[in-house]
Amino acid sequence: MAQVDGALQGQTVSRSSTALDRLRREVWEANLGIFRAGLVTMHSGNASGIDRAQGLVVIKPSGMDYDKMRPGDMVVTDLQGRIVEGRWKPSVDLPHHLYLYRHRPEIGGVIHTHSNYATSFALLGRSIPACLTAIADEFGCEIPCAPYVDNSGDNIGKAILDHMGKSPAVLLAHHGAFAFGQTPRAALKTAVMLEDVARTCHLALLIGDPKALPQEEVKKWHDRYHTTYGQPGGQSGVKKARARR
Ligand SMILES: [Zn+2]
Repeated sequence: MAQVDGALQGQTVSRSSTALDRLRREVWEANLGIFRAGLVTMHSGNASGIDRAQGLVVIKPSGMDYDKMRPGDMVVTDLQGRIVEGRWKPSVDLPHHLYLYRHRPEIGGVIHTHSNYATSFALLGRSIPACLTAIADEFGCEIPCAPYVDNSGDNIGKAILDHMGKSPAVLLAHHGAFAFGQTPRAALKTAVMLEDVARTCHLALLIGDPKALPQEEVKKWHDRYHTTYGQPGGQSGVKKARARR
């Protein structure tokens, strides 16, 4: 699999293997991240990432405990889902991840969860309006909910693509949530933020009727968050991630 780019004083240099190893670790960390953030129960979610230069996708293996996985357990496939490296079966949600990678070249990481508060909106088929400054910051628009489809073929991938618009996350009615980013780490941040804002909105709905912010306010917060927020060089990764959207 490794493409050997050159040799230096007898040492073989394999850049593509290095890049793939790095991605394997990033995807493993993103899978651990959704577990540690409490976004998944047992085996109910998955994270992936793509190496665009090599056309390879790395994804969680199916049905494996998050806390027992190692980077080497991640499964590598091509964009058609053929296994390239790895000893395990890939997540059953691989086709949806692949569909998004094939159709949205700016996406570098995808996460799927059934996180409770986000999924409570999905269960009702409800989008989450841009009613918090945190939603304006992170999402820049309402978080849409795609109508229910079953998981055969490209049904879920198509539903997400049809409804995502500019949002970095989409709810799937009666099912759960998908979050995206330029990298698996950025997708993890989106997934965590999605659950956080969904929790706040859910709590607010118990005691009142939250209203969406005016569009110009949403834009103002979003623009500020993606231009002046954070440290020079983008420690939070926000600026870089948004630059590609
Ligand atoms: Zn699911």
